[in-house]
Amino acid sequence: MRRVSLEEAFALAEQHFPAGPEALCETLGMSVRYAACVGTEGWCVHNCASGNTRITINSRSPRVRQRFTLAHEVAHVLRILNAPNPATSPTHVPWPSAGPFVNDLAEERVVDAIAADLLIPRGILRVRLPHLPATEREIAAVAKAAGISPWVVCQAMTAHASALGLSGAEVVFIRQDRVDFRRSSTGEPLVADAKGEHQRALVTSDAALSNTASIAYKHETVSLLFVQRTVAPRSAPSADDLRKQLFGEDRSLQGSFAGAIGAWTNRHRSSASFANVDALITGFIAHYTQHWSKKPHLLAVLRSDACRQWLLLVLRAKLSPPRATDKG
Ligand SMILES: [Zn+2]
Repeated sequence: MRRVSLEEAFALAEQHFPAGPEALCETLGMSVRYAACVGTEGWCVHNCASGNTRITINSRSPRVRQRFTLAHEVAHVLRILNAPNPATSPTHVPWPSAGPFVNDLAEERVVDAIAADLLIPRGILRVRLPHLPATEREIAAVAKAAGISPWVVCQAMTAHASALGLSGAEVVFIRQDRVDFRRSSTGEPLVADAKGEHQRALVTSDAALSNTASIAYKHETVSLLFVQRTVAPRSAPSADDLRKQLFGEDRSLQGSFAGAIGAWTNRHRSSASFANVDALITGFIAHYTQHWSKKPHLLAVLRSDACRQWLLLVLRAKLSPPRATDKG
């Protein structure tokens, strides 16, 4: 059997899109059989000595599922071919009955990610999804063209978030109202409370949380929440929006901040840092984090992202040179 590197495999898949996994089977001389199976999506038997590979796919499963299984089994073989010591790699690779992306085994996750890249290569995603965040409809169109489920598109988009131009993406799998697993492109959760966020997303579907768009998919007892974060907010909130978000009707809370900002700008009016808004904000947050260390309600506001955004707008307005006033 010819040794094909992962890079070669991805290039071949892109060249043969949407039939990447099928083209790889041909290139690698793997035989694929479709048969009615019970309790499994299929399996793969790979003989390391001879290189012979036989893949069996459950013909009873929906077409998109069959293609994912095929890509998954091809990915297993690619992993074996690219293993440092292929002879010790497993030769019999049964497909777990749990389904795509829901197996806890680290190797299965790696294989699923490769499978997604074979089915919807990165280059194709870039061309077909030029506008971000992608809408549910755009993702559905790509999934249809690729002959896969939208969930696989979300998974691939998360894996390649930065290459696509997203500042972050996350998939959260929820099984019976419990987070089964989540994968974020940044390694950090993008949504703090996946459950609450998920429920809100279910209600509003394509909810725009400033620069974060979330889409929720539901299938029987499993749902997937897909979150995309763009670099620039869809529509930047105004200082007034942020003020309302931060303080609501709490005049006293807002008063504490207004007083602190006034004192801080007066104190730094003559210093060099005055012209540097970012330095002014960083200094303000550091100073008041200490100053308000015994006032948790002020600290909670001070440490929020919205507060930094609000400070930026407020200080910019304060620092901008006075406009030429009417003369005469
Ligand atoms: Zn597997």
